[in-house]
Amino acid sequence: MLLISNRRCQVPRVVVVGAGFAGLAAARALRRSGMAVTLVDRHVYSTFQPLLYQVATGGLNPGDVAYPVRAYATQHRAGFRRGAVVRVDTAARQVVLADGGRVSYDYLILAGGVTTTHFGVPGAAQHTFAVYTRGDAIAVRDALMDRLETVAESPDRRLDLVVVGGGPTGVETAGALAELCDTGIRAAFPEIARDRVRVLLVERGEDVLSGFHPSLRRYAVRQLRHRGVQVRLGATVAAVEADRLCMADGTTVPAELTVWAAGVAAADQVRDWGLPQGAGGRILVGPDLRVLGEDRVFAAGDLAFDPQAPMPQLAPPAIQMGAHAAGQIERLAAGLGTKQFRYRDKGNAATIGRSAAVIELPGLVRLTGPIAWLGWVGLHVVMLLGARNRLSTLLNLAWRYLSRPYGRNLIVGDSPSRLPIQEAA
Ligand SMILES: Cc1cc2nc3c(=O)[nH]c(=O)nc-3n(C[C@H](O)[C@H](O)[C@H](O)COP(=O)(O)OP(=O)(O)OC[C@H]3O[C@@H](n4cnc5c(N)ncnc54)[C@H](O)[C@@H]3O)c2cc1C
Repeated sequence: MLLISNRRCQVPRVVVVGAGFAGLAAARALRRSGMAVTLVDRHVYSTFQPLLYQVATGGLNPGDVAYPVRAYATQHRAGFRRGAVVRVDTAARQVVLADGGRVSYDYLILAGGVTTTHFGVPGAAQHTFAVYTRGDAIAVRDALMDRLETVAESPDRRLDLVVVGGGPTGVETAGALAELCDTGIRAAFPEIARDRVRVLLVERGEDVLSGFHPSLRRYAVRQLRHRGVQVRLGATVAAVEADRLCMADGTTVPAELTVWAAGVAAADQVRDWGLPQGAGGRILVGPDLRVLGEDRVFAAGDLAFDPQAPMPQLAPPAIQMGAHAAGQIERLAAGLGTKQFRYRDKGNAATIGRSAAVIELPGLVRLTGPIAWLGWVGLHVVMLLGARNRLSTLLNLAWRYLSRPYGRNLIVGDSPSRLPIQEAA
């Protein structure tokens, strides 16, 4: 017994904070390392963020995009501790959790992701919804059903659904809302004429999908407009009130439900972790992904920021960074030096709606239309964790896109009177 216990003590302990793309990739990469790996997450599930907007717009169930972290950890010979990290005690080599618990490490990977930022726009945090967590998406869907029911009961009322931000999340959400109006609402709320519901996308820049090639950006705007989305470019939101946006040019825009998809930053609580932060509060790392000034602490995914080589905040870089950080820990434990992280660009994709998507692959390959859309569906279904989730997502997406009208089978929400769920850290 003594021997076993001593041996256990000699096995390096790796703590991975965050069970998103980066954290899970790190745990997967360490599976055969023989180290004692513990995943820490504030939730008991890992969220597949790229399909959250489908949950928000009644196409998918919240369970379709969630996978139990404990099951994943067990499959990958790791442990799991639920808890929100509130501080990193680098001197004691421990992460401190909100419930007062402490988890000791020899090596640490911080992969806690980022969250919605409102850029200090007055009223934005109070009066808009985010689509960043599973709780956010459920709140949007519940509120959407609530607003639609109110409009169905009041023949004189109209409904203005507004999306702020023309990045992939904003474009995908606006496209899905337009589709909801075209087919879903018509079937589920026959009292509501199409012209009583307006979907507006507001973007401060002169284009949507700024990370994509200009031809793909133009395609996305054309497709959105074709689907009935009003796209306002070069429009800056100055303040948000309960039922309208106040624009920087002095005009107002009616908004009964606003989804805020204008940007992300590290959570405010990361300030308390006592680690160096850069743009958007992200944790500063060196070329090998070690946190600046720290020998045993790495950061990966959306939360990590190397000013010399900033990464797009997307799933492929997060996965590669998580795996790289894990590899460097194995090297350090073996007495070797670390290697620089090099991103292998796998391309980028966004969908606008049925039969319309954009895909940009390395080597100047650009796809649009039904082929890109099928590629987008396939990619997302394959990337989901768990066969059951893949099957139910495929079925729900097929129902949404292939059955007309799909509205009678909308995955509906409650009818709350409350405002967005502001998720605890
Ligand atoms: C709506 C939406 C659509 C997107 N679509 C795409 C897409 O189509 N393609 C693409 O490549 N990317 C997309 N992205 C971006 C992609 O999802 C992120 O880049 C990716 O999730 C980042 O992975 P991560 O591991 O760094 O963080 P995350 O996946 O955000 O995971 C972070 C984890 O850390 C946990 N956590 C956070 N704080 C704490 C704490 N204090 N203590 C403990 N645990 C904590 C969280 O619960 C979470 O599980 C999308 C994002 C959103 C929001």
